[in-house]
Amino acid sequence: MKGIIFSVKRYAIHDGPGIRVTFFMKGCPLSCWWCHNPEGRSYEPSTVEQIDRIGEKEFRKKEIVGKFYDTKDILAILEKERIFINQSKGGVTFSGGEPMIQFDFLLEVMQSCKENGFHTAMDTSGYSTSESFNKILPLTDLFLFDIKHLDNLKHKEFTGVPNELILNNFNLIVESGNDYMVRIPIVPGFNDDPDHISRLKNFILGEKHENLKMINLLPFHKIGSSKYKKFNIPYKMGNVEEPSTQKMKELKAFFSGYGVRVKIGG
Ligand code: SF4
Repeated sequence: MKGIIFSVKRYAIHDGPGIRVTFFMKGCPLSCWWCHNPEGRSYEPSTVEQIDRIGEKEFRKKEIVGKFYDTKDILAILEKERIFINQSKGGVTFSGGEPMIQFDFLLEVMQSCKENGFHTAMDTSGYSTSESFNKILPLTDLFLFDIKHLDNLKHKEFTGVPNELILNNFNLIVESGNDYMVRIPIVPGFNDDPDHISRLKNFILGEKHENLKMINLLPFHKIGSSKYKKFNIPYKMGNVEEPSTQKMKELKAFFSGYGVRVKIGG
């Protein structure tokens, strides 16, 4: 079986413990306005036109985003990095896009990773069936679970999908006893008002959170906007400013005050 991957990051240190190899799987059912990987959202390898400008001149070239890999290819990449992975207690992370969108491939490849002794992590938007999450749970040592907004309408407006499924799947993971980290994009004007932050805290730290390893507060940044230009994709974030360092420190202090490990950034 083959899966489509649009980027492979070796020596990744922000996608779980230790040194990792992160595979960015193509396709995502969401369309977050601030997405940093818009080229990874479509489900198939795509040809995108890259436009570079030097002064008045415009240069166009075609770039293919996405390549097919089978399980053997993935394991071959991991084997090459095994020394670094083992020494650092790292592993492999599947990110995206949304890895669950290529579920059959993900299941096969994660099974093989486990059989070959690699620690497995999955960075997910949580938007998949609960049945699929139940199947992938025994193969996932660590979830990096994104929570964007608790208000369904607002979630739908800014990500294209409602949030019930996501929140249900989050609760499923909490109940499962698997380790998880929560990733919250901090997007000014979308989810950073004090009332919502307080509701997020109540939701994440609700009745049970002993397997919560960390909260990552991911400040919205405009660096991603250059990709929209590069790949000629409309950018909806307009003039939204990045959250200030002070604001991020305050948010970190707020969540840390409840005894949880918090990091600004991935
Ligand atoms: S869930 Fe992640 S990959 Fe998908 S659109 Fe949102 S930010 Fe992009």
